[in-house]
Amino acid sequence: MQRRILLRVISGYHTISYETVFAISGFPPIDNFIVHNRDFKIATKTCNANNHDVCLPVSKMPHPSERSPINLVSYYKNIEDNFPVVCFTDGSKINSKVGLAFVVFKDHIETEVHQFRIRDECSIFQAELLCIAQAVNWIRTNENPSSNFLICSDSISCLCALNCITSPNRLIVKTQTNLSFLQGRGVQVFFSFARDHIGIYCNERADWLAKEATILIDMVPMSVPKSFYKCVFKEHVISQWNSRYQISHITKYTKEFFPSIHRRLKAIHFVPNFRITQFLTGHGNFKSYLKRFNLSRTDLCSCSSGEIQDVNHLILSCSKFTPARCLLISSLKKNNLAWPPSFSTLVQNKIYFASFCEFIDNISPTFYRL
Ligand SMILES: [Zn+2]
Repeated sequence: MQRRILLRVISGYHTISYETVFAISGFPPIDNFIVHNRDFKIATKTCNANNHDVCLPVSKMPHPSERSPINLVSYYKNIEDNFPVVCFTDGSKINSKVGLAFVVFKDHIETEVHQFRIRDECSIFQAELLCIAQAVNWIRTNENPSSNFLICSDSISCLCALNCITSPNRLIVKTQTNLSFLQGRGVQVFFSFARDHIGIYCNERADWLAKEATILIDMVPMSVPKSFYKCVFKEHVISQWNSRYQISHITKYTKEFFPSIHRRLKAIHFVPNFRITQFLTGHGNFKSYLKRFNLSRTDLCSCSSGEIQDVNHLILSCSKFTPARCLLISSLKKNNLAWPPSFSTLVQNKIYFASFCEFIDNISPTFYRL
């Protein structure tokens, strides 16, 4: 059924094989996709109760009045002068390891450093969020809290996430309830977005400490984000799909244009149509193909070369299309591609593909009648 639908997508003849139709359309085989989708759901469902960032069930969510959004102030030079205690937070992923750190400055003097590491599959967003949560927690457990704190982060997405008082994420809920608790005690915590790598010393210090934290041995438990599994499973689907494509013996012509599924998926400019699909599959109005179904008496081209009329002949040597071919050759040469090119380069980028489409459009109305 999927093949029949995809044949409509690529406007191809009904004799085209499964593997070819998947490759040209760019849609993975559905059986492959279903198996991996199931594994993805199983993997994302399993979570550890100790994890910091799991989604809380509705029954465990606090009342909205117990959560408060964050107080955002815009960052300006020497903002630190207006706050007795300033925390700079940062998360970092380096060598596939994730670390985070916050550093505390009291009257411009570095007084404390806190570093943590989380599992390698976690995202930088998780690291940044956990870091802010740890900083707020540190303020709450502080024995002698002053009245005003400033937390600077270089992650605008985390600050936006913390502003949402309906999020079920445990880290966000905990941070907001902590802020609400502190507010009740007369402690104000302000947040600011401090852009990374613009020479703010405290920010650079937090960044350096976060990178250093990636070599810690102990890890704070965090769940693996869905985005990680999505990438992993997408790669699985593509590699299995590619293995099926490679062992298939009936994708001869298509493999000349797309040697692998990875190459096909990279060619985002490629859009199949009735004419292009014929050349990429060999299933078209070519005498070699028509003769197989007794729709032509001969498979030889009428150009007096005595060659079989197939995709190779039409693109590379048929004398009837010399003018159209000259146009293609000159446009490819302008873009530094020598003639004859490998068929895979003709669909490799937008420019070559446009020239190739033009050539096919020029010759298609004629070769049917040859
Ligand atoms: Zn010919």
